[in-house]
Amino acid sequence: MTSTQLEPSPHETADLEKFKMYIGGRFVDAQSGQTFGTENPYLGRTWATIPDGSTADVDAAVASARSALDGEWGAATGFERARLLRKLGDIIGENAERLARLEVQDSGKLYREMIGQLQYLPQWYYYYAGLADKIEGRSIPSDKPNYFVYTRREPVGVVAAITPWNSPLLLLTFKLAVGLAAGCTFVIKPSEHSPASTLAFAEMVDKAGFPAGTVNVVSGFSREVGEHLASHLGVDKVAFTGSTTTGRAVAKAAAENLNKVTLELGGKSPQIVFPDADLDAAANGLVAGVFAATGQTCMAGSRLIVHESVHDELIELVAARAKAIKLGDPNDAATEMGPVANRPQYEKVLGYLKTAIHEGATIASGGKASAELGGMFIEPTVFTGVTPEFTVVKEEVFGPVLAAYTFSTEDEALSLANDSQFGLAGAVWTKDVHRAHRIAAKLRAGTVWVNAYRVLAPNVPFGGFGDSGLGRENGLDAINEYTETKSVWVELTGATRDPFKLG
Ligand code: NAD
Repeated sequence: MTSTQLEPSPHETADLEKFKMYIGGRFVDAQSGQTFGTENPYLGRTWATIPDGSTADVDAAVASARSALDGEWGAATGFERARLLRKLGDIIGENAERLARLEVQDSGKLYREMIGQLQYLPQWYYYYAGLADKIEGRSIPSDKPNYFVYTRREPVGVVAAITPWNSPLLLLTFKLAVGLAAGCTFVIKPSEHSPASTLAFAEMVDKAGFPAGTVNVVSGFSREVGEHLASHLGVDKVAFTGSTTTGRAVAKAAAENLNKVTLELGGKSPQIVFPDADLDAAANGLVAGVFAATGQTCMAGSRLIVHESVHDELIELVAARAKAIKLGDPNDAATEMGPVANRPQYEKVLGYLKTAIHEGATIASGGKASAELGGMFIEPTVFTGVTPEFTVVKEEVFGPVLAAYTFSTEDEALSLANDSQFGLAGAVWTKDVHRAHRIAAKLRAGTVWVNAYRVLAPNVPFGGFGDSGLGRENGLDAINEYTETKSVWVELTGATRDPFKLG
């Protein structure tokens, strides 16, 4: 969806859904009273009004988060945090359909994908509920006989969670479930392109009974809102998912304040196909990797690196499937690919198609906007005959565009795959178990799938090498991103020590 400033006229907006922000346990409008419209990219019309928050609203949300941390939420035991996380998981499960519909309205993603994603979401809250009452320090045998030493794991504090327009609630949950388990409080800033589901989600947080201020949601059309939050002196950690360019700005702001930061950024993930692979399965994995969600996923497998001996056969399979993909209404159960989520992104993808053709890529399928459907549909596109120098091989398109090129040896496959600034994910397709593990070890990527693509779980770490990010979300270790370790030294004898000697 694209977002446009709307006049706050009751006449014009009478039939639109209205959302509120959630600050300090209350559902509120922006302090300015301004709203902006959010557009359904399939229908091409504004369907809801969103509070157009500003820096003043961010300040209020950060203050609420701080007071919850210093108050009731900060005093809650791990058992109490676990109880509330489980309750939130239950409520999300009961409301999965509503949340999925909101995400479809706002981003044009398929209902059949979003309902699955939303029904799975409670697992994150259950998984981290299981951890909330097990965040333990250690007692450390001291090298000095008169000291007892132990550590405490304390919440890092107020977390700014800034999310992108694709899969808003899933990507928020990667941060929120673990952060709440750790005892942190949150100020959430959803993308200006798809804020509705996150604002509705706040109602579920409220219903679960989290103390006021534990979770706050601020929406705003201007990028200044995210910028202000990321650089806020009242924030202790920034958890960001979005583009690499914005991620760099967020990292700089966090560095300025010496804040912790996790960044989940873009990708240009390779899928390597060896001649012994099951080519039908590989073709299916390529379709899942780059055409599911209209290619608008950070982990899109957008580079196909295929052995020269099976190139033609595999391209034929992938192109045939790409041409058969059913584009259309995201709510229709038969639809396989929806529109691009918003106009700037649509223009960006069209630009990449033009550049690829101009640079000499061969079109095996697609290559243009889908004329029959109008709207913001782009044909599932497979380019062949590219080289590592092509823009479509180097840059993240974030759309349904696959760039295919060949290798002849395993070393060459690896060096082509690793020739990228990004390192979020990758796949290897082969029946040779030795080779599969060799490649998995040598790929510079945070996630490697063997004979599979696009699989995630709450208990498996996710994140990137290189320009794909910093830190990991999901899994047990993610709790370390949301806790600080404190060492406590207790003198046991009451004796007076030499004040001029260390220890
Ligand atoms: P974006 O970087 O434009 O915006 C992301 C969020 O940051 C939005 O909420 C935006 O309002 C906010 N923002 C903008 N400027 C800011 C600033 N200066 N400081 C702080 N916040 C600011 O990204 P997008 O266009 O919404 O999302 C698409 C990008 O996200 C793609 O590049 C994609 O690869 C990436 N992505 C990564 C992952 C992952 O897990 N690695 C997942 C999904 C999307």
